[in-house]
Amino acid sequence: MYKNLESVPKAYNEPVKSYAPGSPEKAELKAMLSELKSQEIEIPMIIGGKRITTDQKIEIHPPHDLKHTLGHFYRGGAEHVAMAIDAALKAAESWARMPWEHRAAIFLRAADLLAGPYRARINAATMLCQSKTAHQAEIDAACELADFFRFNVQYMTEIYSQQPSSDKGMWNRLEYRPLEGFVYALTPFNFTSIAGNLQTAPAMMGNVVVWKCSNTQVYSAKVLMDLFEEAGVPAGVINLVFVSGPVAGKVVMEHPDFAGFHFTGSTAVFQQIWKTIGTNIAKYKTYPRIVGETGGKDFVFAHKSSNAEQVATALLRGAFEFQGQKCSAASRAYIPDNIWPAVKEKLIADLKTVKMGDVEDFTNFMGAVIDKASFDKLSMYIDNALNDKETEIIAGGGHDDSVGYFIEPTVIVTTDPHYVTMEEELFGPVLTIYVYEAEKWEETLEVVDTTSIYALTGAIFSNDRYATDYAVDYLSQAAGNFYINDKPTGAVVGQQPFGGARASGTNDKAGSYLNMIRWTSPRTIKETFDPPKDYRYPFMIEE
Ligand code: NAD
Repeated sequence: MYKNLESVPKAYNEPVKSYAPGSPEKAELKAMLSELKSQEIEIPMIIGGKRITTDQKIEIHPPHDLKHTLGHFYRGGAEHVAMAIDAALKAAESWARMPWEHRAAIFLRAADLLAGPYRARINAATMLCQSKTAHQAEIDAACELADFFRFNVQYMTEIYSQQPSSDKGMWNRLEYRPLEGFVYALTPFNFTSIAGNLQTAPAMMGNVVVWKCSNTQVYSAKVLMDLFEEAGVPAGVINLVFVSGPVAGKVVMEHPDFAGFHFTGSTAVFQQIWKTIGTNIAKYKTYPRIVGETGGKDFVFAHKSSNAEQVATALLRGAFEFQGQKCSAASRAYIPDNIWPAVKEKLIADLKTVKMGDVEDFTNFMGAVIDKASFDKLSMYIDNALNDKETEIIAGGGHDDSVGYFIEPTVIVTTDPHYVTMEEELFGPVLTIYVYEAEKWEETLEVVDTTSIYALTGAIFSNDRYATDYAVDYLSQAAGNFYINDKPTGAVVGQQPFGGARASGTNDKAGSYLNMIRWTSPRTIKETFDPPKDYRYPFMIEE
């Protein structure tokens, strides 16, 4: 059934390019940024391979340059979601029958196209659309997504090779069928790679997909659809709609053929959708697979034995790269009072050198936050911290949306380990630090473990192996991705499978066989070679 599984090319991580001065990639990326800035593009929905426009055109602006218009997308309604479901179901049979080698080849081709001719375009689109620096765009849109494609092909073949044993006289097989129906992929704004993984992982396993991306990621989503088409994904296998989340959800989650939900985004949205699925459960032909990776309140815990410079560097990179808009971003830290003066001094000094602004200026370390709602929310929390008596802002605190949605990298120090910004996910460049008595590190680990509903990522810094061992064990359920002497961000596909538990998601580890296995509904086939012709068993004979 699954021939030549071992012949598939071995997965590897796409090397990250440096964009150093004089490098060809830097010149190519700058030229692409100018090209994209010089035009306004129209972005239709893509349903059954057709470009669909409506009379509702929405303008797209870079978050860091609100006066500039990159183009428009066409907003659809409930009827477009219904069309997308029909198109997906129409494509389902031929796609499910497509031999696995061809599905694999399409996505291996997508990886090479992305790493080659599409690299500058996807990076430039991600920079302009989501306000990522060149480096952040490179590690996300080009490298991580190519890694998802290549490693998922490998995991798919590993899954297919898992076959049962067969006793004498029979042959047992597992057929890894796609789910019966369609998968709904609902994607976040913050990673182009996640936006390109949530529909392709199920599609690779033979499923058809309705994809709704975030309104603030449409511009780079368009490049992904171009890539899928050029790589050979047939019409109808992945259908992209631009519809409000609740409107799309209503059509999808009422449909009897709804068979799977692949989500990354906030915890509140995931919980709401799970409830709706539960309410509608009797309407479906099959129990929908639910996979969701959601929010985080990711911690850095430093032990008294840790190195202050290493801790301060991890805090700066972990909290402020991509404006803290990584689900894994460090947003609460616990620093012992013996190293706090040194950590504070370095953190403040380093932050003074951090530049924020237009991502087309490559000397900037940070861009703008994604939209007005995010800007307003973050500004409110920062302003409250300026006035609250249990908090002090030791760096940043400024915010200005006159040019773009800029929030300064902000460090709040609090005397209350349960202050609101130690508990709630803000999703922006705001780090809150609680300084604890160095000798009370074991008690403080309990605070780390119990403060937040989330369990996505966390890091401990320690040069005392007994303390490291104790913390790793004590915090065993506090994070799905746990780091020792490293920042809590920057997971690499194939190396640190990513996902969290508790309120952070179903922990199905994007970019691993654990995720891929959710998109198949295996059929066991037993074949008997010489079937019995008499119903009686030997035990029934007395003599
Ligand atoms: P979001 O939940 O606002 O949006 C995600 C998707 O859901 C978007 O397509 C959006 O349009 C849609 N949506 C929003 N409200 C909806 C509603 N009421 N009904 C139906 N659909 C709705 O998340 P976001 O702002 O795009 O992304 C940030 C969030 O994603 C953060 O909470 C972050 O922690 C999380 N995230 C988690 C991971 C992870 O791997 N755990 C990775 C990236 C992002």
